[in-house]
Amino acid sequence: MLNVDTIKNGVVIDHIRAGAGMQIFSWLGLDKADYSVALIMNVASNQMGRKDIIKIDNNINIDFSVLGFIDPNITINIIMDERIAKKITLKLPEKVENVIKCKNPRCITSTESYIPHIFRLADRKRAEYHCEYCDELYRAGVGDVL
Ligand SMILES: [Zn+2]
Repeated sequence: MLNVDTIKNGVVIDHIRAGAGMQIFSWLGLDKADYSVALIMNVASNQMGRKDIIKIDNNINIDFSVLGFIDPNITINIIMDERIAKKITLKLPEKVENVIKCKNPRCITSTESYIPHIFRLADRKRAEYHCEYCDELYRAGVGDVL
C-alpha cells in the first residue's frame, strides 16, 4: 500500500464516498497511469463510516469543478516534498459545461450537436441541476459524467 509519506510530489483524494472511488479512479484515467497510484476502498472514517481514498504519486491536473460535481464532500491534499502543501475542499460548481448530457430528446442539445451541454445549479442541498435550455432536472453524481 502507498502511504502519504511514500508520495514525494502528488495528490491524495480523500473522503470519497465509499463505492465511488473506482469510478473516479477510471474517470481520472488512473487505470492507465505509468506512475504509482493507489485506490484504497472502505477505509474506516470517523466522519463518514467508510470512505475511499486515491493516492497519486504524480502532479496530475485535475478538473476540480468536475470532481466537485461528482462528489462535493471530497477533499484534496497536494503533496510536495512528502508533506501536505495544500488542502482543497470541493463544492458543487454553479455551472457545468459538457460534463453531463441533457436526456430530454426534445432539448436543442439533443438535435444540434454544436451546442454545449450546460447545466446550472438550482438546489445545492439536493445537488440538483437544470439544463440551460429546456430546464430538464439532473441530480449530480458520478454515473453519467462524460
Ligand atoms: Zn436540455
